[in-house]
Amino acid sequence: MADAVSKDQVLAALRGVKDPDLGRDIVSLDFVKEVKICGGALGVTIELTTPACPVKDELKKQSEDLLKALPGVTAVDVKMTAQTVGRKIESELLKGVKNIVAVASGKGGVGKSTATANLALALSRAGAKVGILDADIYGPSIPGMMGITDKPFADEQGRAIPPVAFGIKAMSVGMLVGEDAPTIWRGPIASRILQQFLGAVNWGELDYLLLDLPPGTGDVQLTLTQSAPINGAVIVTTPQDVALRIAKKGLKMFLQVNVPVIGVIENMSGFVCPSCNAVHDIFRKGGGERSAREMGVPFLGSIPLDPRMVEAGDLGTPLVSLDPNSPGAKAFEQVAKNVAAQLSISNLNEKNVKARPKEVHLLDQVPPKIVWDDGLVQTFDYRALRLACPCAGCINEMTGEKMLQESSVPKDIKLVSANPVGRYGLSLGFSDGHGSGIYTHDRLRELGTKV
Ligand code: ADP
Repeated sequence: MADAVSKDQVLAALRGVKDPDLGRDIVSLDFVKEVKICGGALGVTIELTTPACPVKDELKKQSEDLLKALPGVTAVDVKMTAQTVGRKIESELLKGVKNIVAVASGKGGVGKSTATANLALALSRAGAKVGILDADIYGPSIPGMMGITDKPFADEQGRAIPPVAFGIKAMSVGMLVGEDAPTIWRGPIASRILQQFLGAVNWGELDYLLLDLPPGTGDVQLTLTQSAPINGAVIVTTPQDVALRIAKKGLKMFLQVNVPVIGVIENMSGFVCPSCNAVHDIFRKGGGERSAREMGVPFLGSIPLDPRMVEAGDLGTPLVSLDPNSPGAKAFEQVAKNVAAQLSISNLNEKNVKARPKEVHLLDQVPPKIVWDDGLVQTFDYRALRLACPCAGCINEMTGEKMLQESSVPKDIKLVSANPVGRYGLSLGFSDGHGSGIYTHDRLRELGTKV
């Protein structure tokens, strides 16, 4: 029997499926790995950049619908797989580790370690290989939260093999100093210990290694952040104003050492009623989201205050495993998907970037200028930048249609903020209050005028 369609027709149809996070279709992103055609039956394999992709089901459904609509096609089988993208980590000892993600907070007690343990479990449940390195020298709580009492043992090369709990490889500085040991380490010592932990541990293959940093944004945190090849940081905060203000300091710290902040998690946001499981907003919520927007970084989601979270921590079984259907666990599942998606975006964009800014003078010079690392110097027009805003409010994500009315943008519009996003772009804020556009370095190059 002759085949109903050709491979080219299948690919042409699949070009209609766009990854909303990456902003491109799945064929040009090279996600379509296999196309099998037998008469009217089609088999397609789509490989995503993370098993925890938040739009996996949508992409599968859209692909199936488009393929089923091709003339003569009688059966469609779309298989979804994943190969986690990572950043090349220039370390022989860590070569099996694709992503190192720091989990940070401006102060203690906001739920940073709870978030680390539950995010790790949620990523693992989605199919990723995950490890945790608990570097919280002031209060290493991961072993307790994950019920780990085993000590690491050594392989033939003398490297430590981490104990495994809930499928997660976990190492903690607590295994070295005991959970209650008073810690008086300063930056250099903490950094040496961390390097030892990264290098002297046989991590094997990992999609994500979560690094639970000590709370705060001081010298120890700064040194630790510089001593590991981190490719993304997550900041945990609570809805309280003071916590948010401190979280902003965390963001500045990561910018200073050029570690992309992939987003903010708001913990203890709303209260889960123990009798009906509904989430009530007893505190003001949404502050984390607002702060994320102000800082020009993605908001990764909120986690409700759930009394069972404390119980889970005390039992040594993170909530995502203890009660996967509870509101707290479901919230972590969604946040984990967002973390994975933002890392993929950051990694892919970074890979594609052709030039990076060496000096950004968009706010402090007239005319506004960027000096690129290949020597090119460009000037920019504020209004042209505003009109080119790539955010979902200004451009339709699906069709690419421009929704921003040119006449609505004032002639004398000014730029009021320009913050780096990862290593691939800038988030620009304008005097009309608009500030949700992330301009990739490549896009900025197109918008600038050579001096
Ligand atoms: P940190 O690592 O920021 O110091 P922890 O993760 O140790 O904070 O959490 C501090 C305390 O708050 C723990 O007792 C933990 O069980 C509790 N906790 C954290 N997140 C939540 C939450 N969403 N709901 C209820 N309790 C929480």
